[in-house]
Amino acid sequence: MAARIGLLGGTFDPIHFGHLRAAEEAYQKLALDKVIFLPTAVPPHKKRPDLSPFSLRFEMVRLALSGVPYFEVSDLERRLPKPSYSIKTLEVLKEQVPGGEFFFILGFDAFLEFETWYEYQRIPTLAHLIVVTRGGGDEAAFAAKVRELFPESKQENNFWWRLPRGFSVRYLPILRLDISSTFLRKAVKNRESIRFLTPDPVRDFIFAHGLYAADLASPGAREDYDKSPE
Ligand code: ATP
Ligand code: MG
Repeated sequence: MAARIGLLGGTFDPIHFGHLRAAEEAYQKLALDKVIFLPTAVPPHKKRPDLSPFSLRFEMVRLALSGVPYFEVSDLERRLPKPSYSIKTLEVLKEQVPGGEFFFILGFDAFLEFETWYEYQRIPTLAHLIVVTRGGGDEAAFAAKVRELFPESKQENNFWWRLPRGFSVRYLPILRLDISSTFLRKAVKNRESIRFLTPDPVRDFIFAHGLYAADLASPGAREDYDKSPE
């Protein structure tokens, strides 16, 4: 049987439990064989001059996935032309794993701006689109967006639309975790705790490399931070 492969792209600056739970729930609910995390080299949408280097974002993902046999991280987008377009990444993955059935996982927030993605209509000619809960939004909002993006789709039920070429667009309700990388970056900058929002090795890595607050890497700074009053 074809391998069922989930893909989760992101800037992962830094990775957090929102990403990990989205991948975990998709893995279990869709009976995937594995989920590949794809850190973006140069995100087409985000114009963040302070974006952390690819190697550090990649390393944080690697640390977060350690010990989970069905999660993998790929550095494919580092090697592909920039900016990183998901359709291009998918084309390469398709060649690398010819028999694979791909499930492209994205949050509802990302789906709402899907029409801004490069050649977005071609993405579900290579992979199923799996939209997980994030922020506001419900089945009705999802349905409206699917009709707008893919008028040729046929509705199977509230959660599932079929597209002409055998692929589908699905809404996958997951436990809503209101965590974002933006929040973590700001918290570190403001000396607020990020414990229990990302795995401990990622948290340690952030401090060791002075990410989001360069002075935190200096000796003693970490202890002061951990003890700082509210
Ligand atoms: P930033 O705040 O920098 O935009 P982010 O937390 O949104 O970061 P991204 O790297 O932009 O993380 O997200 C990658 C993918 O993971 C997107 O499809 C996004 O919708 C999804 N995602 C991120 N956080 C969550 C979450 N808490 N729950 C569900 N999906 C999430
Ligand atoms: Mg985001």
